[in-house]
Amino acid sequence: MCSKGGKREVGSGIARESYNAISLYSPNRAPCRIDLSDNTNLWGTPPAVRWLLGSAPDAVITRYPRAYADDLKRAIAGYLNVSQSWIVTGCGSDDVLDSAIRAFSEPGQSLAFPDPSFQMVEIFARMNGLTPLPIPLKGDYDVDADAFIDSGASVIYLCSPNNPTGTVLSRRSIERILANAPGVVILDEAYAEFADAEQLDLLAESDRLVITRTLSKAFGLAGLRVGYAVASLDLAREIEKSRGPYKVSSLAEQAGIAALTEERQWVSNRIADARVVRSRLTRELTTRGVAPIESQANFVLVPVERAERIAARMRSLGVAVRPFARLRGIGDAVRITVGPWSMMEECLNALDEALSCE
Ligand code: PMP
Repeated sequence: MCSKGGKREVGSGIARESYNAISLYSPNRAPCRIDLSDNTNLWGTPPAVRWLLGSAPDAVITRYPRAYADDLKRAIAGYLNVSQSWIVTGCGSDDVLDSAIRAFSEPGQSLAFPDPSFQMVEIFARMNGLTPLPIPLKGDYDVDADAFIDSGASVIYLCSPNNPTGTVLSRRSIERILANAPGVVILDEAYAEFADAEQLDLLAESDRLVITRTLSKAFGLAGLRVGYAVASLDLAREIEKSRGPYKVSSLAEQAGIAALTEERQWVSNRIADARVVRSRLTRELTTRGVAPIESQANFVLVPVERAERIAARMRSLGVAVRPFARLRGIGDAVRITVGPWSMMEECLNALDEALSCE
């Protein structure tokens, strides 16, 4: 309850002290005519999933799902060509990341992550009682492998392609960290499908690597919340303990299976579309005198001054992009999700108009 001075918050004195440093994740997700703010698949829903949603039997709704979504694991294992025992699913890769962090650390230890990177990671670190250790990305957007190793962190988080820069880490740096890290290394590949290379084969070389992926981006299922981790059997079992049962709903499991087994061609066509549009958007932005960062994801980060104001103006013109303030080594920037070219045209027009007001 608030005191008269309005300073005390509900739960103070009861809540965990480390929670004082956590605020709710609150991207501005107010509806907007064209929403390019969250890196989802703007080409729509895989057709087989759309069909499934209309024809699901009652049991999908009235009964509990499988505790650990075994059928979904099988479909993911088939997609990646790895053993099913290496897969852990979750309610989005957010859930899988949180579970993995918790599985390999004790409260009071630390988690090292690149700065800038996926903003939720610092929150997950604090939620699990860990000290977050941001480590600046280098000028070429690679990680400083030695700084990560020397941090002594029990959990190292890496992200490639990285959000929000869209840049990839060098294989050399990842391998160096894997060879020398004291604890687990989580490699977040939420955007791997859009990149030239992926690092799945590193799992055969390292028994401390966990790779996380999602069906929210390339597969177009963000609203259904399906993510997964791939790791050697022993690590996967530990993550699954900390994940707990019933995290993926039956409907989400079935939709995930349909997308992974029946719609692979649809998904790869959309990935190809995204890559073409990404190049074209990058070229168009460059001709406008801004300097977008070369991306291997389904979004492009554009450094611009006063990004919050630019994004607010673009929103008033019906186009939502994600503003970032004072990113380390970059400054202010807006992140634009790649989508069908008609959306990109509207985005460029709104950006032109917003920049012309500066
Ligand atoms: N990792 C990265 C790098 C992301 O950008 C996101 C979503 N923005 C996630 C993980 C989480 O995605 P989801 O929970 O939808 O799988």
